[in-house]
Amino acid sequence: MIFPEHMEFRYYITPERKECYELYSMTLGCRRTLLEKTQDLGQCLVDLYDTDFYDTYCVLSEINKLLRPLTPEHKDETAWRKLLELAMPLCKVHPFFGLLIKELSDLEENHAYGKNDTKDILLRFDRDFENIVSDAKALIEVCLDDRHQPNYSTAERYREAHYDARLCFDDMRYGELATEEVMLERPAYDSAYNYSVEKLREQGIKTALREVLYPNTVRDLYNYLKGYCLRLPLPIHKCKNCGRYFVVTGNITQDYCTRLMEGSEKTCRQMGAVVQYQSRQMKNPATKEFTRSYKAHNARVRYGTMTKAEFTAWSKEARAKRADCIAGKLPLEEFVAWLDSDRQR
Ligand SMILES: [Zn+2]
Repeated sequence: MIFPEHMEFRYYITPERKECYELYSMTLGCRRTLLEKTQDLGQCLVDLYDTDFYDTYCVLSEINKLLRPLTPEHKDETAWRKLLELAMPLCKVHPFFGLLIKELSDLEENHAYGKNDTKDILLRFDRDFENIVSDAKALIEVCLDDRHQPNYSTAERYREAHYDARLCFDDMRYGELATEEVMLERPAYDSAYNYSVEKLREQGIKTALREVLYPNTVRDLYNYLKGYCLRLPLPIHKCKNCGRYFVVTGNITQDYCTRLMEGSEKTCRQMGAVVQYQSRQMKNPATKEFTRSYKAHNARVRYGTMTKAEFTAWSKEARAKRADCIAGKLPLEEFVAWLDSDRQR
């Protein structure tokens, strides 16, 4: 076999709203992990939205070309090597491609045992994936984004999208579901099955019971995830700075994402905090009065009724009084009276 043997792909969601992908092979009872990814639930939907899959579609069509002539009788080792070489890097593009690796490995294994496995699911992986990408786009834009038709419930937004033919009520079914014990902080060992509770505690291994999905197709995987996000519902917002979608992880009023701004070490969210602070400050009456008076004093410098040095000294004192006023140490009326005390007629 060219591909790792006996592969499993599993997906589960934690109560902390993290999604976990795992792709591993089991050879002689030894577990080898090929893909392991934990991220905020829904991040993979946003990645489907954001990623440019043009190159990926080219690779997928190459994979299809290599697959078509393969049969149990026609074992082409070079083709299988090429398939492995093409497919493995796709896991880095999107975790959904972990399932493609598993499907390819299953086919090679069946061919090795002389079973003429149908290649239908594999050959339609590219089309399925393309449909999933367009479904995910609609799902985010018109359904999970709760600022799109905010007075509608998630179910109503979905129905509306169905009516507009952007989303459909296809049967959102999925493959095998199981409840399994998963290791929370995963060390290199393969499984916790053979350990006693004492042994696990001694080694500092924590486990939990989770619902685990073993998808048969990429559509299974997507449907499970989509169904889960719809039922929550998982809110997704458009960042008010960069305009890209992001999963809302904390406060439901979140406006900014945590991506780094281009050419900056600050994230949109850090920048947003500054903007929000400033706008709150601007609404403060002390700041309003200060700004009004500052403009008037600054004009005096231009008219020559106040020197630059006098203005600098005045603005320093005014800033200090403004800070006292915002902090509640100086009543607003006293601050305003002070600002107007040198009023010129
Ligand atoms: Zn942003």
